[in-house]
Amino acid sequence: MSAPYDVLLRGAEVYDGLGSPPVQADIAFAGDRIAALGSLDAARATLDIDATGLSVAPGFIDAHTHDDLAALNQPDMGFKLLGGVTTCVVGNCGFGAAPFKEAMQLFDGLTPGLSVPHYDGHAGYAATVETVRPGVNIAALAGHGTLRLAAMGTADRQPEERELQHMKDALGEALDAGVFGLSSGLIYVPGRYSQTSELIELASDMRDSGALYATHMRDEGDGLLASVAEAIDIGEQAQVPVQISHHKASGRANWGRVTESLKLIELAQARGLDVHCDQYPYTAGSTILVAIIENGAFTGSAQGGIGTVGADDVVIAGAPGHPQWEGRTVAALAAEFGIPARAAALRVVEHAPGTTAIIHMMSEDDVQQVLRHPSTMIGSDGIPTVGGRPHLRLYNSFARVLGHYSRDLGVLSMADAIYRMTGFTANKFGLNGRGRIEIGAFADAVVFDAETLIDQGTFENPNRYPAGIVDVFVNGVASVRAGVSQTARAGRMLRRPGT
Ligand SMILES: [Zn+2]
Repeated sequence: MSAPYDVLLRGAEVYDGLGSPPVQADIAFAGDRIAALGSLDAARATLDIDATGLSVAPGFIDAHTHDDLAALNQPDMGFKLLGGVTTCVVGNCGFGAAPFKEAMQLFDGLTPGLSVPHYDGHAGYAATVETVRPGVNIAALAGHGTLRLAAMGTADRQPEERELQHMKDALGEALDAGVFGLSSGLIYVPGRYSQTSELIELASDMRDSGALYATHMRDEGDGLLASVAEAIDIGEQAQVPVQISHHKASGRANWGRVTESLKLIELAQARGLDVHCDQYPYTAGSTILVAIIENGAFTGSAQGGIGTVGADDVVIAGAPGHPQWEGRTVAALAAEFGIPARAAALRVVEHAPGTTAIIHMMSEDDVQQVLRHPSTMIGSDGIPTVGGRPHLRLYNSFARVLGHYSRDLGVLSMADAIYRMTGFTANKFGLNGRGRIEIGAFADAVVFDAETLIDQGTFENPNRYPAGIVDVFVNGVASVRAGVSQTARAGRMLRRPGT
């Protein structure tokens, strides 16, 4: 008789995470690994689950999150686990977790109120994650904005030699601590003050390390194509892989231009560059209101990174201390205050620093075209605000891709959609042993009902979890059972291979 396993999932349709069609099989976990696959009728396990009629996939990998501090401050991470996510890539859009002081400054603008214990550098962040043990695995990127703020404050100029060296030293510390790359946020202060050459200099330090350059580009509106070209140029000059974050064409005047931007990605791939993108499955975006103002959204002349969006298209998501503004458009607030839209937005930011907003800025055709493209992975870009009305994507991105776009609309097959949130992402970032159902891989898995899986909530009432997520395992530990979080806290700090 074979040794008993810790967990057995019996009779499910199993997706391997690599794009193969599903096969009916039993899966056994021993410790933190997948120990057996196939027909395991005679096997026994401590936790024996009849998953007949359900599907099993590798736990979803969220390629794009801002959960650096949430992992420490809200370590159950139910808002991710209950959506089937078992690994979060943190540190995106230039907002990294270290150096500590500058990280706190930037995150205070993004997710106010998330206080965490002090740590030193990315090594200290990694050690703190290990001590706290969040509910999901964490893979970190260093953030260019954080490094730049520490080196030279918010100076709007090129760095001096010693300031560049300061950034390089901090990046070196992060790489030694196992980060998977460097992110930039080129619409935000201070990242927006950097020139291409500065980013090439920094990214060059990652050459041959396996680390990648991820970017929230300078302009996703009128300057979309120039921005994609810049991201590709940085990758080619520095000779590092590139990940274009939350790919989109923003602002009505730019709808349809993803056809050209995806073509630029294809051409760079044909030249040999490892370049891909990620996407959240909604026509609305979300960011801090101050960045929307700084990028000229309300001026009618889009000199900034998000194109021209009207005051009707911008809805307050979270306004710390001013819940009466949440859910209202900037246009409505401008009418109430009796002042122009830009002035109204400035007034909101003045009274409620850290205000986040939803921006209705994309076309449905573009969202589907990007999703269908073989270069696209799924990343929620959810902002884990405490309270407020965060963008639905925080909880629902993965269920929406699978339930709405794959099953209901047929934009891509279920196996392909799962690949974009598991094996593909693990390969791109170098998350070894993750994102696949195979013997020896880590036992990160999600059990779901393919017929009922669907995103839930509305922008007015966003704090809802998706339907159809049944069980979630993280490193072999049952973290969600029958749709209920077990607060198991079984996540780990992941490190880049070789560190
Ligand atoms: Zn971003």
